[in-house]
Amino acid sequence: MPERTPYIAANWKMNKTVAEAAEFVDALLPRIAATQSDVVICPPFTALTPVVERRYGTAVKVAAQNMHEEEAGAFTGEISAAMLVELDVEAVVLGHSERRQFFGETDEGVARRVEAALAQGLHVIACIGETEAEREAGETEEVLRRQVSVLEADDGLVVAYEPVWAIGTGKTATPAIAQQAHAFIKSLLDVPVLYGGSVKPDNAAELAAQPDVDGALVGGASLDLESFAAICRASSH
Ligand code: PEP
Repeated sequence: MPERTPYIAANWKMNKTVAEAAEFVDALLPRIAATQSDVVICPPFTALTPVVERRYGTAVKVAAQNMHEEEAGAFTGEISAAMLVELDVEAVVLGHSERRQFFGETDEGVARRVEAALAQGLHVIACIGETEAEREAGETEEVLRRQVSVLEADDGLVVAYEPVWAIGTGKTATPAIAQQAHAFIKSLLDVPVLYGGSVKPDNAAELAAQPDVDGALVGGASLDLESFAAICRASSH
């Protein structure tokens, strides 16, 4: 089997001002220069440009955390795919569980955004995952099947399996749980699958070693320079 290049994405959520983002990236780049991972930084909209400008000449890519499916129009507060492309942003995270939970995003809405992003040449990290109640009720596969059913395999598409009960809770899925879910997702859709949910420097290597774990989507630990650099190193193999 060919060696995979792990894909490590830093989801900063609503954190870091322009000044903080610039300082962070300047300090991060030398720390990850030697890692064999594809690193993607996902800053808030306001900090996209300073991060893009700093990563020119490196292998690091930049992703937005959301976008709207329409090209333009009366959608106050929204951003289109073309607006991201204009900023030299390469990718976008779509369907994060916080978007689904707090902003009412549905599987169908996520599917429309994925299609619009891919059509503009953006890469997409599409997030899926079950809640704790769904896992306890034995519905994990049913939920994943439903969330995946609206997506189509594409060279630009990566799925992030993020069990909602593991996001920001410190409860990481065991490598075996992650592997089982990733293998199931890949049986439905032939795309790389990242794991997200309380990834830290001390669990990153074990998760990355699973045969169907193709990288990580890191939230909280990506805000800390040394933790994120350590995760990038631990995930390279
Ligand atoms: C996330 O929000 O995508 C995430 C995985 O967060 P955390 O690493 O903090 O659990």
